[in-house]
Amino acid sequence: MIVTRFAPSPNGSLHLGHAVSAVIAHDLAKNTGGRFLLRIEDIDGARSRPELADEFRADLRWLGLEWGEVAAQSSRLAAYDAAAEHLKSAGLLYPCQCTRADIKAAATQFGPEGPVYPGTCKGADIDLSAPVAWRIDVDAAVKRTGDLEWVDQLAGAQNAQPQELGDVVLMRKDAPASYHLAATIDDAADGVSLVTRGRDLFAATHIHRLLQALLDLPVPQWHHHHLLLDEDGRKLAKRRNSPSLADMRESGADGAKIASDIRLGCFPIGMSLQED
Ligand code: GLU
Repeated sequence: MIVTRFAPSPNGSLHLGHAVSAVIAHDLAKNTGGRFLLRIEDIDGARSRPELADEFRADLRWLGLEWGEVAAQSSRLAAYDAAAEHLKSAGLLYPCQCTRADIKAAATQFGPEGPVYPGTCKGADIDLSAPVAWRIDVDAAVKRTGDLEWVDQLAGAQNAQPQELGDVVLMRKDAPASYHLAATIDDAADGVSLVTRGRDLFAATHIHRLLQALLDLPVPQWHHHHLLLDEDGRKLAKRRNSPSLADMRESGADGAKIASDIRLGCFPIGMSLQED
């Protein structure tokens, strides 16, 4: 049975790009008798606004979607800690004190998510009495796992290349865990068999596949869908005034019609799905 999920972070209202993601994930499951899950990714400390979870549920109802809800990330911190401890005791994490500015200044490589961590703290004697982040030593991890593969339903078989993102943070200085660790653990705990999300997270999957191998987690398939772009060819974003689903809903727009337009590939003037 196919199990998919929609995993929004409650740090801003949803927009039409999120509706595309939710409708695709919903239909991939429901059209084959599978399950579509909602998971609230509320691990983002200060930026998280719990009241948005209810807004998201109202948005999904308005779109005519049906889902089963699984535990929010804030209730799963112990599982993230345990996984991080396991990786630490295997010698695969190292503490890091660098600020964003330090990294920007020292980086020589740029990956799909910005500057690749230059390894400043790797092997350094770090004072653990102050808050630190914990990074994965990707080279050491890859030596442990050997070559890995994963399958995207649209893009086909991929060789995992976690080095593209480098030694990403798994436990954050200011929050319990990073997106990479939390989402990987949750997808396994929730029994997700088809991780459905936008292409902007394609590169993150290389890291997630590595974590699955290290933590002995089941390996799902992925479906990284094309993103909805605005008239300037940019991803929709609240900060660029993309209308929120909540605004559209409250102004009386027909959510079921919007969901059916998404299925037909019809979008408001100026918006289009990214091409390959
Ligand atoms: N919480 C992430 C977001 O809102 C989505 C992560 C995922 O689907 O894996 O962008």
